[in-house]
Amino acid sequence: MSQQQQPYQRGTQCVWSGEEHYLLQGATQVPIVHSVSFGYDDVDEWLAVALGQKKGHIYGRNTNPTVEALEEKVRQLEGAEAATSAATGMGIISSALFALLSPGQRVVSIKDTYGGTNVIFTEFMPRFKIEVALCDTADHEQIEAEIARGCDVVYLESPTNPTAKVVDIARLAAAGRAAGATVIVDNTFATPINQNPLALGADLVLHSATKFLGGHADALGGVICGRAELINQIYHYREINGATLHPTAAYLLLRGMKTLELRVQRQNESALKIARYLDSHPAVEAVYYPGLPTHSGHDIAQKQMRGYGGMLSFILKENTLDGVRKLIPRFKLAHAAANLGAVETIVGPPATTSHVECTAEERAAMGIPEGLIRYSTGIENVDDLLEDLEQALTIF
Ligand SMILES: *Cc1c(COP(=O)(O)O)cnc(C)c1O
Repeated sequence: MSQQQQPYQRGTQCVWSGEEHYLLQGATQVPIVHSVSFGYDDVDEWLAVALGQKKGHIYGRNTNPTVEALEEKVRQLEGAEAATSAATGMGIISSALFALLSPGQRVVSIKDTYGGTNVIFTEFMPRFKIEVALCDTADHEQIEAEIARGCDVVYLESPTNPTAKVVDIARLAAAGRAAGATVIVDNTFATPINQNPLALGADLVLHSATKFLGGHADALGGVICGRAELINQIYHYREINGATLHPTAAYLLLRGMKTLELRVQRQNESALKIARYLDSHPAVEAVYYPGLPTHSGHDIAQKQMRGYGGMLSFILKENTLDGVRKLIPRFKLAHAAANLGAVETIVGPPATTSHVECTAEERAAMGIPEGLIRYSTGIENVDDLLEDLEQALTIF
């Protein structure tokens, strides 16, 4: 698929993009196609589709029309040439890394990647003799030095989970390109509404669609976008490992995405107000949100993001797991859960959510305090959320 001229703005793209080829018999919504296989009366046509010379579908593990419509919507929002998907965010992350890397090669990444990604780097890549250098997330000189030593993949995430660190994507993508590496960015926290890593020089951008893209905490999925040559490699690996996105999940994600811009704009505004409120609260020790001018990554965020996103985290003056135990059940307008990026506000400690795969020592080494509380701002009215925080914090 070649890159098209994009005459529409992002909110319009969220609603309309990627759907027109998949509407059936005048239906205004993309159907859920559950058929596992697709039949052909003409063997030559079947062969042409099988060889990739003609558009079409053959077997559901490989491609599916509902899934393809979702890939197409994300592709257009990220301004990419091609896109492919997997059953989960981790499915697309592991497919990308194992499709692109071979024994003897080297990855440069950061210590603050998503917990599951970190497990791939620390547990699985070494078993396949792939060297991984994990740098201090905010130390751009160290990351550049490791890239310059030679590497095949540079893997970034910004803002990061859970302390909202920001990496300079344009700067590190340039360093990666100079070293001949493929630069991958996990854009889950920012969403294509707030940030487009490909426009900043990255080769591939990926999402856990489970989070903001779907936005309703009712479907898992992962999508990756970039040049067709790279996407084809990743797609080929994913069709064989079998981590295929289910058509029902694709439909739910596609429907959720129609309101992506509305939701993210609301979450940007509310999260900034909440971060400011927490920052001035006497029971709060520190707030991590890139929209606060005091945040270490604020200047870079201002340069590369259109909004600062819905994710923030904070620590109480009582910075212990016990403090977290007392605070979490007091929220009336927040699910205490492992997810993020949904219409409902969600709170949780990294110890039980994103970094549950890590030991307490590993979390400490990653600079994640045991008393950290991650706050995923929902689309509720912000005054109600502020009031809820106020009443929850009164005991501290
Ligand atoms: C949740 C998440 C993932 C993994 O996605 P799943 O859909 O849960 O597999 C990857 N990266 C980030 C930043 C995430 O928040």
